[in-house]
Amino acid sequence: MKHFIRSLCFLAAALPTFAATKVATLHPILADLARQVGGANVEVVEILKPGADVHHFEPAPKDLAEMRGAKLLLASGKGLESFLDKLRDSLGAGVKLVEVGAKIPSIPFEEHHHEGHADKEPAEKDKDHEEHDHHHGAEDPHWWHSAENMKRASRIVADELSAVDPANAAAYAAGAKAASKRFGELKSWAQKEISKIDRKDRLLVTAHGAFGYFCKEFGFEPISVLSIGRSDDASSKHIAETIEEIREHGIKAIFPEDQANPKVLAEIARSTGVKVGEPLIADGTAKVAHTFETMLAHNVRSIVAALAPAAPVK
Ligand SMILES: [Zn+2]
Repeated sequence: MKHFIRSLCFLAAALPTFAATKVATLHPILADLARQVGGANVEVVEILKPGADVHHFEPAPKDLAEMRGAKLLLASGKGLESFLDKLRDSLGAGVKLVEVGAKIPSIPFEEHHHEGHADKEPAEKDKDHEEHDHHHGAEDPHWWHSAENMKRASRIVADELSAVDPANAAAYAAGAKAASKRFGELKSWAQKEISKIDRKDRLLVTAHGAFGYFCKEFGFEPISVLSIGRSDDASSKHIAETIEEIREHGIKAIFPEDQANPKVLAEIARSTGVKVGEPLIADGTAKVAHTFETMLAHNVRSIVAALAPAAPVK
């Protein structure tokens, strides 16, 4: 036994020293992306873990301690993490904060918000905008619902990793390429599935305004009952508008979310007779699916199940 232990010690000493680059992440989708791009060259520490609420998370002192020694701290950006300015001051030297979403084209919230806004007077529009967007400014922060954005993100992560660990730059570029290929394949699968839904039925009614990028990529019109930050602030006027739209367009289903099933959805379903679909994964932090790939697959399956015409009974 002693001899065996001595041999192990000898082996450990003989191995070349290998230090993985420590990367801390503020979203589970970014943790998965860092692992896909970085492979064995990175050690990922998830600060915001699956199950957490991205809209209300604040790092605690223990989180700051966990960030120590990280070369990169990956955040979603686009205003999702309202604490970043404060955090920047308390980050140790040598930790680079990267807002991955910063270089990804934004959809302004108003562009994909409830179409009822379109016929309002500008002053009224501004007021609505203020009420709905006080947390996040005008950008929609849920950019990771798009395969194209995830491809961009994989390149951004590869570039940042290469900057702090140039010796492995080729491996990071290859990791980003492989991840992009997978995201592209998933997008093709999703497009094929979604083609089963009649074009006129591609309206996506969800609890909060999280699906703008998904809708843009896959040809849906988004209608959200709550605001972009998931506060339970649906005004009775907004609910009435949603009900009107459901009736006008003959919308077949509305979707709750893994973290939001406001009473108002049940009320809307009751008064319109519309069915309530499977809960969608809106913020990418569901314990059962917290990678881009599992989230998108779940959402597409749920949406197609509720909106595509039922197969004829034989
Ligand atoms: Zn959200």
